[in-house]
Amino acid sequence: MTNRNSHPPFAAGNWKMHLASGEAARLASEIVKGAADAAGAELVLIPPFTSLDSVRRVVADSSVALGAQNMHWEDKGAFTGEVSPLMVKDAGCRYVVIGHSERRHLFGETDGGVNKKIKAALRTDLTPIFCLGETLEERQSGRTIDRIESQLIAGLEGLDGESVSKIVMAYEPVWAIGTGRTATPAQAQEVHGQLRGALSERYGKQDADCVIILYGGSVKPDNAFSLFREKDIDGFLVGGASLEASSFLRIAKEALRAHKEKP
Ligand code: PEP
Repeated sequence: MTNRNSHPPFAAGNWKMHLASGEAARLASEIVKGAADAAGAELVLIPPFTSLDSVRRVVADSSVALGAQNMHWEDKGAFTGEVSPLMVKDAGCRYVVIGHSERRHLFGETDGGVNKKIKAALRTDLTPIFCLGETLEERQSGRTIDRIESQLIAGLEGLDGESVSKIVMAYEPVWAIGTGRTATPAQAQEVHGQLRGALSERYGKQDADCVIILYGGSVKPDNAFSLFREKDIDGFLVGGASLEASSFLRIAKEALRAHKEKP
């Protein structure tokens, strides 16, 4: 894996449960058209399952990559309503979001399930975007770092450094997702730095330095620059602001601008 410092700024748009196939294709094509202005950034579009195919057709032959929002860990079987890693791969995805806080909090996903999904993604040659983050109550009671580290340890259980180096992580404070409240650059950096430190302690600095760590939680064009300038922030997982081509592309451009100023 390449060291994260030589990796382009990363902007992934999580479209959640928005946009049926036609609408999704239209948004994807606006983003593909504008992607030249954000050349040098890695752009990933993450539509709902039913819109993967229409978006795949639009991004084919462009630099824009495709991701899925979730998957099961088994390759096939009697799991009504689930989608397997092989199906996600077959749909043209390079990435898959694992353990998003909406899955954890609204659909009861556990750290154990997240761990199985991360392993399934890696064995299928999909890059997991492994999400973790604390609730407001955990932050206010001073348990942010403990919570993050316990999610990290459980999510990566049984993986070696080489596997971990292929993962993209996303720190997403639950209180900042979809709320308009963003972590300050210093708050985000504190957690990203802790995550990098914990990875380095467990897997060694070389592998830890390959892990791309995204920030997510109400990222907008006007806060992207100051967040990205922080040392351990390598890009963004964007929800609401990725539903409009111009704001998503502006976030990527702000990240590129800040990339040049990074210490
Ligand atoms: C997300 O869904 O991962 C997210 C960060 O959402 P928002 O940008 O809307 O807070």
